[in-house]
Amino acid sequence: MNDVHIPDILAYRRELQLGAERGSAELALHHPSSGAELSFSVRWEEPGLEFEDVIFDGIRLCANHCDFCYIHQMPKGMRKSLYIMDDDFRTSFLYGSFVTLTNLTEEDVERILDEKLSPLYVSVHTADEDKRAELMNWWPNKVPSEGAVKIRAMIERLASIDLFTQMVLLPGRNDGDDLDDTLEYLASRPNVLAVACVPVGLTGNRGHLTALEPYNREEAADVLSRVHRFQERMLAERGTRFVFASDEFYIRAGWPLPEEEYYEGYAMLENGVGMVRDFLSAGLPAELPPSLERRRVLIGTGKLFAPVLAEALAPLAAVEGLEIEVRALTNRTFGEVTTVAGLLAGRDVLAGVEAGEADLLLLSPNMFKYGTESMLDDRTRSELQDELGMRVAVGGTNLAELASTILSGEVRDHLPSIGFSTHAIKEAAKQH
Ligand code: SF4
Repeated sequence: MNDVHIPDILAYRRELQLGAERGSAELALHHPSSGAELSFSVRWEEPGLEFEDVIFDGIRLCANHCDFCYIHQMPKGMRKSLYIMDDDFRTSFLYGSFVTLTNLTEEDVERILDEKLSPLYVSVHTADEDKRAELMNWWPNKVPSEGAVKIRAMIERLASIDLFTQMVLLPGRNDGDDLDDTLEYLASRPNVLAVACVPVGLTGNRGHLTALEPYNREEAADVLSRVHRFQERMLAERGTRFVFASDEFYIRAGWPLPEEEYYEGYAMLENGVGMVRDFLSAGLPAELPPSLERRRVLIGTGKLFAPVLAEALAPLAAVEGLEIEVRALTNRTFGEVTTVAGLLAGRDVLAGVEAGEADLLLLSPNMFKYGTESMLDDRTRSELQDELGMRVAVGGTNLAELASTILSGEVRDHLPSIGFSTHAIKEAAKQH
């Protein structure tokens, strides 16, 4: 377009805009197999082109080999798209996926600044440069410039770009005083809008990898104490809590989940920050029917969320005729250490539920590929239904929807409420 090569949808939109400002945009199309060429110009109108992907030249892959990388811990046999180690600043801008910035070329940095690709979502992990290098193990031959791996200098260079940041915390590695120091540094940068602290996600497939432990109660409580202390200061100084710990820290520490206003609009929802409160906040119906036609409803979810959900649904036990059970499903696919609902595969449901043991089995929308009926192991909802000899459906994206499904027995399509996850981007980008 306008004699400029177009690598992605952002460049396409930019050239269209520049063309409109200049009077017209010139487009040249080339058919890859027939070799046919077509050129035309547009003045103000939308040319009507549709693209299969938002990235045309391939998703940028990461230059790191992080100790805690989820992809290195994945079992074999999942969809190929799940093994792609993407780290693309363009999908960060378009969909909010977190990137490390270690694979940025000088041109990329210039482009981010010129085109104001703001906000970006950045995995900082620690502001201690040596520690970050040790945690992330970048491959020297894949890192395009020394500047790309200096996180402080990069944040400072991107001063005109708003940054939502995250710290994946590993017990004893980048928490404790290092967490305080990193928060102190990030809060000193005006372009850093918020920090999400999430615990390292582990699976049972770590065989050859560095030994890592999940957070225990005391360690999780220590992270929360530090985060809360920092929040108090930030609230007084900036009017925002600035740093947020993910739900998993509260559940692991046994601390009550904060109320809705605490999350200040849920900017970091995709990171599991406030997801449980958001789910619960829609609440149960004010009035429950005294009785219903006799039925047994089973709700399958991950071990982490099951106790919270069981407590939230407890009032439904008063409805005569309705028998409900929240079943904590063991993750055999990724290993028992993996307790989130979103990583349960169809085979885990089959292993945890007996055929015909309920009239209706409800599952979390996060267990399905976005907008489809397929689970992580490509089993579909209807296949589960056939194998289990009972109705299987997605329960709802919040407590009110789930309660309505349980009480009415009517099932609807429920898509995850958290928007386009990185996983969904890969699916959408057809990176199989
Ligand atoms: S940057 Fe992400 S994809 Fe790359 S190694 Fe680290 S955790 Fe894995």
